Amino acid sequence: MPGALDARNRESAIQALAEGPLDVLVIGGGITGAGAALDAASRGLRVGLVESRDLAAGTSSRSSKLIHGGLRYLEQGDFKLVKEALRERDLLVSRLAPHLVRPLPFLFPLYKKVVERPYVGAGLVLYDAMEGVKRPVPHHRHLTTRGALRRAPALRPDRLAGAMVYYDAQVDDARYTVTVARTAVRHGAHIVTRASAVTLLRDGARVTGAVVKDEESGRTFDVRAAAVIVCAGVWSDLVHEASGVRAGYQVRMSKGVHLVVPRTAIDADTGMIVRTSKSVLFFIPWDSRWIVGTTDTDWSGDRAEPAATAEDVDYLLREANRVLARPLTRADVLAVYAGLRPLVAAPPADSRAGDKASGAEKPTTKLSREHVVDTPLPGLASIAGGKFTTYRLMARDVVDAAVAGLPRPVPPSVTGQLPLLGADGLPAVLASAGRLAADYDVPPTVAGHLITRYGTLATEVLDLVSADKTLGRPLLDGYPYLRAEVAYAVTHEGALHAEDVLARRVRLHIESSDAGLAAAPEVVAVMAGLLGWNRRRRAAELRRYQDFANANAAALAPAPPAAPAAAAEPVSVPA
Ligand SMILES: Cc1cc2nc3c(=O)[nH]c(=O)nc-3n(C[C@H](O)[C@H](O)[C@H](O)COP(=O)(O)OP(=O)(O)OC[C@H]3O[C@@H](n4cnc5c(N)ncnc54)[C@H](O)[C@@H]3O)c2cc1C
Repeated sequence: MPGALDARNRESAIQALAEGPLDVLVIGGGITGAGAALDAASRGLRVGLVESRDLAAGTSSRSSKLIHGGLRYLEQGDFKLVKEALRERDLLVSRLAPHLVRPLPFLFPLYKKVVERPYVGAGLVLYDAMEGVKRPVPHHRHLTTRGALRRAPALRPDRLAGAMVYYDAQVDDARYTVTVARTAVRHGAHIVTRASAVTLLRDGARVTGAVVKDEESGRTFDVRAAAVIVCAGVWSDLVHEASGVRAGYQVRMSKGVHLVVPRTAIDADTGMIVRTSKSVLFFIPWDSRWIVGTTDTDWSGDRAEPAATAEDVDYLLREANRVLARPLTRADVLAVYAGLRPLVAAPPADSRAGDKASGAEKPTTKLSREHVVDTPLPGLASIAGGKFTTYRLMARDVVDAAVAGLPRPVPPSVTGQLPLLGADGLPAVLASAGRLAADYDVPPTVAGHLITRYGTLATEVLDLVSADKTLGRPLLDGYPYLRAEVAYAVTHEGALHAEDVLARRVRLHIESSDAGLAAAPEVVAVMAGLLGWNRRRRAAELRRYQDFANANAAALAPAPPAAPAAAAEPVSVPA
């Protein structure tokens, strides 16, 4: 099946990497690495990608899930970043991934009579003007106070002086990353998850590949490649250090925390963005829930599982409650998740980043969200910074840098014309959703749910249901996911563990109040059938998921009676 990332074929992907040689080896399977693999493979190069954990297991599953220009960066005068990001947003919404990236309205409440409306209005005129000519999302609009309360009765009416409504877009970040990776596979890339680049291979100064450790078996093997690309996000410095590479940038980690609350807790039919004392706070609709965030604080702890704290939760509740008529409490919070921004602290003098000053002293809110590409050694290119929204441009730039030293000419990037898997033919599938439901003998809601998540690939999931009716059953009562989606995660999306399914293929880890624990036995049972797990292995998988699911539990425990000592107050910002 072209573009299937079948966990059962992992051994043959490892063999393809070990046999090589490749043109390009990508280290890291977040959105940047998946994007780089797609960019390089679609230029006709032989590409491999290794990811230490799972696709999107790092920052790329823990974002605010917005594909946006970033109003805040406009206010900071970062016009180039905003313009690039808005053009990318429009390309993804209209052509490359309309099945995954959807326009979303945001209400911006105004609280200062007279002065605020012209200021915010002018910003939104500029925001709208920076888009391309063909506009896939509507223009901004002005609302009166009554109009604002009609859209968002949840807002406190006192002090409200009207609102603006503008548009950005929304994505399931992990699903998007997996889809980019699968599209790379469709173009010939070999992708292996749970495989870490341990150190770089060298021939003199030139980098010629990497020693890779299979994290499942513990064995190591060499992967030879004409060029290596480091897309390791907040791990970039570690990858460089392990091979004694002096890179031209360093990463500064900034933690961002989000709360997930039920949709019923906040009465509004639109996303919202509100100013806080230092920045802004988003209320983002997420099916039958809201995502509320985020914070921005320096982090120096565990990169793999950044933990939210009770102070983070208190801060977000406090900021949200400044504008909500019915205050949110800890009892409303279903889940909390934290991610690390890989911000560039010290870009090299000739980098693309607009901010040339060393960022070591700056607050993380002030660090540029532009990306930096560095080529510290022949055969090695490394990238960090940037935003999910601009991943395609980041991928293009780092692949350009990596292939500049190859002996043969390489065509320019084509990803601007390359719809992701599931996008081609979407209008026809949407129009014939009713027939699809009838053909596969499933309720129309099921067909709709699958099209929303997989686009035209929904039929591949439905084929699994046709072959085994038990896969048509819900994974967990009260949630739209099917058991077939677990099977599909293994056979088409490379899931190797229950965590891969519950945290990144379906999103029960952040959508349910028990972090997906109730669904874990069923997930393990479906996976076991496909991956040949015995009873011991199944028990081990369940324990492994329990450990993972409990990582953020402490943040939701009741707040300690005494005020926290000397904890830096988080600052909420858009990512
Ligand atoms: C709280 C928060 C909110 C955000 N919101 C938004 C938003 O709404 N919109 C937006 O555009 N951007 C947003 N961002 C930014 C965006 O999420 C990140 O820029 C992007 O996800 C970074 O992707 P990445 O691939 O560079 O890093 P990652 O996703 O972290 O990927 C790096 C990968 O490298 C792997 N790796 C590390 N070392 C090795 C090794 N030795 N061998 C193999 N693999 C390795 C890791 O396991 C990891 O999976 C947000 C960020 C945060 C933290």
